[in-house]
Amino acid sequence: MPTFNPVTPELITQLTAILGAGSVSTARADIDLHAKDQSQHHAVPPEVVVWPTAAQQVADILKLANELHVPVTPWGVGTGLEGNSIPVRGGILMSFERMTNIVQVHADDFQVTVQPGIGHKDLNAQLARYGLFFPPDPGANATVGGMLANNAAGIRTVKYGASKDNVLKMQVALADGRLIHVGSRSVKQSAGYDLLHLFVGSEGTLGVITEATLKLVPIPQFMSAAIAAFPTIKSAVETVVAVRGSGLDPAALELIDATHTKMLREAEGVDLVDHPTLFMEFHAAQEATLEAGLEMVKEICDEMGALSFRSTTDSTERKKLWHARHASYEIMVRSHPDKTFFINDVAVPISAYPELIAYVEQLRDERHITCYMIGHAGDGNIHVEFPFQGEAEYQNALETNGLIVLKALELGGTATGEHGVGIGKAKYMPNEHGDGLNVMKSIKETLDPNGILNPGKIFIETEHESVE
Ligand SMILES: Cc1cc2nc3c(=O)[nH]c(=O)nc-3n(C[C@H](O)[C@H](O)[C@H](O)COP(=O)(O)OP(=O)(O)OC[C@H]3O[C@@H](n4cnc5c(N)ncnc54)[C@H](O)[C@@H]3O)c2cc1C
Repeated sequence: MPTFNPVTPELITQLTAILGAGSVSTARADIDLHAKDQSQHHAVPPEVVVWPTAAQQVADILKLANELHVPVTPWGVGTGLEGNSIPVRGGILMSFERMTNIVQVHADDFQVTVQPGIGHKDLNAQLARYGLFFPPDPGANATVGGMLANNAAGIRTVKYGASKDNVLKMQVALADGRLIHVGSRSVKQSAGYDLLHLFVGSEGTLGVITEATLKLVPIPQFMSAAIAAFPTIKSAVETVVAVRGSGLDPAALELIDATHTKMLREAEGVDLVDHPTLFMEFHAAQEATLEAGLEMVKEICDEMGALSFRSTTDSTERKKLWHARHASYEIMVRSHPDKTFFINDVAVPISAYPELIAYVEQLRDERHITCYMIGHAGDGNIHVEFPFQGEAEYQNALETNGLIVLKALELGGTATGEHGVGIGKAKYMPNEHGDGLNVMKSIKETLDPNGILNPGKIFIETEHESVE
């Protein structure tokens, strides 16, 4: 484990010389605000928070911190769900709150170059005037830097891919203070090692993203939505596989289990029945294509024994139908005011999805544990959400989560589909990667020999898995 030095008054003076007054803070409120993300992992305060506004400032700070052996943890807006941006070894917390510019829109190339701190929702609001959008959608208004660092995905990944599929080029500041670019603006790239995708998903442990050129797609002319309820989770999940296998190209294909629909109905009167429910969305350039697609989906759902099927091509109605899915997390948190949430995230090949979901149901019964299932089912990705209070409930959630992760690995899947490794998934990396993890360690040591970049993440370093 690397050893680090504390942040000293001299270092604060040097940081202020690089950034200017007002961009360096040790105020209690700033420290507390950056001590914890949205996960269940406990808070660890940084020693100082800094707000760079330019790439060269980021590089200069890294060079200084590297020379002094002081850790640096990048921070987007802290919506991570695996403790990815918690500064577990203290040091400098580098917030991208003031690097939110759109550098250039390359509308003719369907691309945009941005600073890393811009929220993807804010970016899409600006891009609407060009009729374009950046498709990955992790629900929260996560920053582009945080999304690329975690390889965030979300609801529309089934059609448009994850963050890694929607980036072409990045500028990255290395631990030694070099500023490099990786990738190019060409959509086809075959020039040597793929450094672009080495940094994507590296959770700020290999370098700090200071600029990114993203791929955009035209805002679809027509969208439709469909919601279908099923008698059993098995029939709902098998429908997911059938829809994927039909050649239909859903833009979203989401599953909510019966426990969750019941909670949504009871908590907020959401118009859902207490049965496993699929939410689907389709995008097309022509309305007729959508209508033909909806007919086909209805046929598939009927054949699979759907209890109900609702669909629409009207945009107001579509938003109403989708409201329950979009607000499901907030409604769940509101309806358990005394609980903290532990959110599991695993993914498997689509054919193994029914077996994975059946296993979670079995565990729920055997372990007498309250949990809700909500999944990006079209990608074989499930989140099992455990409300807990106190150590006993936390331990049950932790152990159940572990069993689900091992099952996903056994089924040829992954310990994390989209939330990243952060703190909680580090212990599963040897199972998932075997000797490949040693190659990852060698890469880390080459790019960050002093281990200053977001220490305590991805690789098991300290036993940091404990309840808040
Ligand atoms: C309600 C809710 C729903 C969510 N739904 C989804 C979902 O559907 N799909 C999904 O994928 N995620 C989801 N998430 C998780 C979260 O939004 C993503 O992990 C997101 O990528 C985090 O972005 P952020 O800007 O908040 O980054 P942070 O949480 O601040 O940081 C995330 C990681 O990125 C690093 N980082 C930040 N900026 C940089 C940079 N410039 N350079 C290098 N590293 C950097 C941090 O060090 C950290 O390791 C959800 C979260 C919430 C709260």
